Amino acid sequence: MNSTASRHYDVAIIGTGPVGSLCALTYARRGARVALFEANPNDHSGLKGEWLHPPASQMLQQVGVRFDTQAQATNGFVVFPEDGSEPIALTYPDGSHGLVCPHETLVSGLREAAENEPDVDLIWSGARPTHDGSITYTQNGAERSVTADRIVGADGRGSLVLRLLGLTAKPTVCSRMIGIRVNGVSLPMEDYGHIFCGGPGPIFMYRLGKDSVSAIMDIPREYSDRNAADLPSPSGRLPTAARRSRRAAHPGAPPAAAYRRSRRKPPVQPAAAIPGAAGQGSRVVLS
Ligand SMILES: Cc1cc2nc3c(=O)[nH]c(=O)nc-3n(C[C@H](O)[C@H](O)[C@H](O)COP(=O)(O)OP(=O)(O)OC[C@H]3O[C@@H](n4cnc5c(N)ncnc54)[C@H](O)[C@@H]3O)c2cc1C
Repeated sequence: MNSTASRHYDVAIIGTGPVGSLCALTYARRGARVALFEANPNDHSGLKGEWLHPPASQMLQQVGVRFDTQAQATNGFVVFPEDGSEPIALTYPDGSHGLVCPHETLVSGLREAAENEPDVDLIWSGARPTHDGSITYTQNGAERSVTADRIVGADGRGSLVLRLLGLTAKPTVCSRMIGIRVNGVSLPMEDYGHIFCGGPGPIFMYRLGKDSVSAIMDIPREYSDRNAADLPSPSGRLPTAARRSRRAAHPGAPPAAAYRRSRRKPPVQPAAAIPGAAGQGSRVVLS
């Protein structure tokens, strides 16, 4: 795109996470002219969502974004109770399938599709929305602006759009998640996500690729960064194959951790269009 200074769009979308990119694609396919802003091309790295339920998987198919070679189809979940009783399979209904895909693959695939859409202008810059419906941004050192009939805030947890509309609430940290990727592992039911109950918090394991399994542990908030290393070992709760897999984890790779926070629901403002925007922005890496 050559110049967007003072250009008018039907829709301006802030953020190219899964929500913003998909939103841009669907608006453009309905004939809208879309400006799509992204402040940080590398924001898709780190510990974020990889598991898509069947409706999300179907939506990707509808917009023609496919990850056939990089994604795993999944049939649902299997829960391993704390008391060692029989695992409980929670299979998706009607033979539907979910999709498991590395977050970075999901985001870069959706961004690429949005970028290639003729009616989407992807603008690599932090967007600053204003109350009068315009968005200012900086490109090549110059201040620019666009206007739009509708502004969509898909800018994650620290959303400027939510702040502008006064829709933020102070979050409370309720637990944290630590995730690792491990190689050379087999799981008891490969086509399912495995939830191991018990211990300080549940462990969620699922196949992410031919050689890779993701393991994510939910940690109560009492365990601070300093005493996370003192967590009771979860290995007693894992089946033998998965226990072996823990030992196979990349020795040099630190686990990635993310805070899970709850917020009071903001009041609804009818003038605002704010889908999704549920990103878990606050990530830390434990070392
Ligand atoms: C550990 C963990 C596990 C999860 N697991 C799952 C799961 O299995 N399944 C699932 O469905 N969800 C999961 N989630 C949640 C999922 O990751 C988020 O809901 C999803 O990423 C939200 O997408 P989003 O597009 O709303 O926001 P984000 O992915 O946060 O993207 C926001 C984008 O906006 C950009 N941005 C921010 N401000 C501006 C600005 N001013 N101008 C321009 N760009 C801006 C950011 O750079 C970023 O690219 C998980 C989250 C975590 C932390």
